[in-house]
Amino acid sequence: MRILVTGGAGFLGSHLCERLLQDGNEVVCIDNLFTGQKANIAHLRPNPRFEFVRHDVIDPFKYEVDQIYNLACPASPPHYQYNPIKTIKTSVMGAINCLGLAKRLKARVFQASTSEVYGDPSVHPQPESYWGNVNPIGRRSCYDEGKRCAETLFFDYHRENKVDIRVVRIFNTYGPRMHSNDGRVVSNFIVQALQGDDLTLYGDGTQTRAFCYVDDLIEGFVRFMGQTETVGPMNLGNPGEFTMLQLAEKTLQLVGGPSRIVYRPLPADDPRQRRPDITLAKRVLQWAPAVDLEEGLRRTIAYFKTKI
Ligand code: NAD
Ligand code: UDP
Repeated sequence: MRILVTGGAGFLGSHLCERLLQDGNEVVCIDNLFTGQKANIAHLRPNPRFEFVRHDVIDPFKYEVDQIYNLACPASPPHYQYNPIKTIKTSVMGAINCLGLAKRLKARVFQASTSEVYGDPSVHPQPESYWGNVNPIGRRSCYDEGKRCAETLFFDYHRENKVDIRVVRIFNTYGPRMHSNDGRVVSNFIVQALQGDDLTLYGDGTQTRAFCYVDDLIEGFVRFMGQTETVGPMNLGNPGEFTMLQLAEKTLQLVGGPSRIVYRPLPADDPRQRRPDITLAKRVLQWAPAVDLEEGLRRTIAYFKTKI
């Protein structure tokens, strides 16, 4: 197949492009390089089945493809809050442009949605049926509401125009090719520990997240796109739940060195807890994460050692 990946030069996008090429597909990667990097896809560029186009998904695009994966959107809180209006435009107009193209081509189209659609959840763990608890006017809203609106557009195009959609809600995922200045917790802690700096723990460190290693997530993407039982939304993530204090301690234990933990203020609207209910993915995709946090951290630490 010929497959379009928006945001393909980013962390997840570059792993997805790599996997789709390995499976024998042609890949067109479009990215405006806001948080993505050419270095993430440098190893793919000699491949004649790979094409990179610098383009912003806010502006319409046309490629003759069989499938579309829409990943374009900054994902880390500092990056998506840097220009919040741009973030919401990217989510909403990027979705409209992908869906319009998919409608014309009759192509299957995938949306990288997020566990942030659940906001600061009052149901735990979060099943897909939970509608969420999202502040519509806070600092995270440009991302959360942008992604919620994109889901709405996907389901409206599906109902109104029979567009063949697949919507995945991704829970915190980490691994090689995260940006070293990304601002998300796993990359922050690893980079800080490798540089001998103190680890910045926000709040009292009791808030929880569940961390999925990138290879597991990409396997889930491909299986989900390859099945016809459900259009989603489907949670993909690792149900192993940790406090941020546990993550900091685990990182220090694996990296070693002189770093200590320092406490910083908790950002506004930071979710208290988060863990995916992956019953649906297990049943439909026969999928469950295979890489545990310690192994995933080891692999990610090895990557950042080559960068720092
Ligand atoms: P990332 O920031 O590394 O990748 C995003 C990519 O999109 C970058 O290459 C960036 O340059 C590109 N981009 C941003 N705005 C664009 C625009 N207007 N036009 C074209 N390209 C644009 O982040 P990631 O972790 O790889 O996230 C990829 C997708 O997965 C995002 O949509 C994100 O919301 C979603 N997601 C990721 C996670 C996670 O834990 N990694 C969790 C939930 C959802
Ligand atoms: N966090 C932290 N130190 C950091 C970066 C993040 O303690 O240097 C916390 C953050 O407040 C949140 C959790 O780690 O509670 C996950 O943050 P991240 O930005 O990675 O993802 P998200 O909040 O979007 O799930």
